[in-house]
Amino acid sequence: MDIYVPGMRDRRIAASDESHSSGVQGGSRRPIFGDGTAARRAGDAAHGVFDLRRYRTGRDPRIISTVVLHQTAVASVRSLPPVATDHDIASEHVFDHMIAHFVVCADGSLVYTHDVEHILNDAGGRFGIDIEFEGDFGNDPEPAEPRLGTAAIEAGRRLLLWLDGYLPALSHIHPHGQVQRGAGGKLHSCCGPDIWMNIGEWAVRRLGWICDTPVASYPNHGISPRQRNTAYDRQLP
Ligand SMILES: [Zn+2]
Repeated sequence: MDIYVPGMRDRRIAASDESHSSGVQGGSRRPIFGDGTAARRAGDAAHGVFDLRRYRTGRDPRIISTVVLHQTAVASVRSLPPVATDHDIASEHVFDHMIAHFVVCADGSLVYTHDVEHILNDAGGRFGIDIEFEGDFGNDPEPAEPRLGTAAIEAGRRLLLWLDGYLPALSHIHPHGQVQRGAGGKLHSCCGPDIWMNIGEWAVRRLGWICDTPVASYPNHGISPRQRNTAYDRQLP
């Protein structure tokens, strides 16, 4: 599904050459696409360049109800190469190999990495969109550097505003830790209070989305008080 957002680069083709993540998120290489999807099956067997455009997508975007917010937990990744590389199927840039539909860069640029019609192997699952914010942000009771910058906050909000227009069923937003599966250990750390308070809680106020009770297909560990910490709210309008 083509999605236009001001300031967003479309690197879906550049991101289609790999079926496994770079390992930046959580340190281990994991399949990018959801279990049972055509892309996952094709990726398991693929050798060499893996052209995702050749495989069918896994869902109708009209079923997408939920946004899940993450942080990359890496201090600084690597700025994107020039726009001319956005369609380079052999890209090895780490953003292109993240398990995310969108990446919000620290400098406020946005990247569309994996088509929302593909189900990813992350907390968003069948009904969700996974958004990664570049950075390594803490969750101590008192905010400490590094903090999520204004440019990234504004970009993240802009992305959600446009997604709200494109995807009619969007109605819920959660920090990864709230809807994590298994023994994830992300309850406090992902996406962390800086992103949750300035993006997630903003979407609840501004877009009327729901955060406390996920739709039925997700577990609900609740939003940890370390994530819902008003000390992190930048009070941006
Ligand atoms: Zn996460």
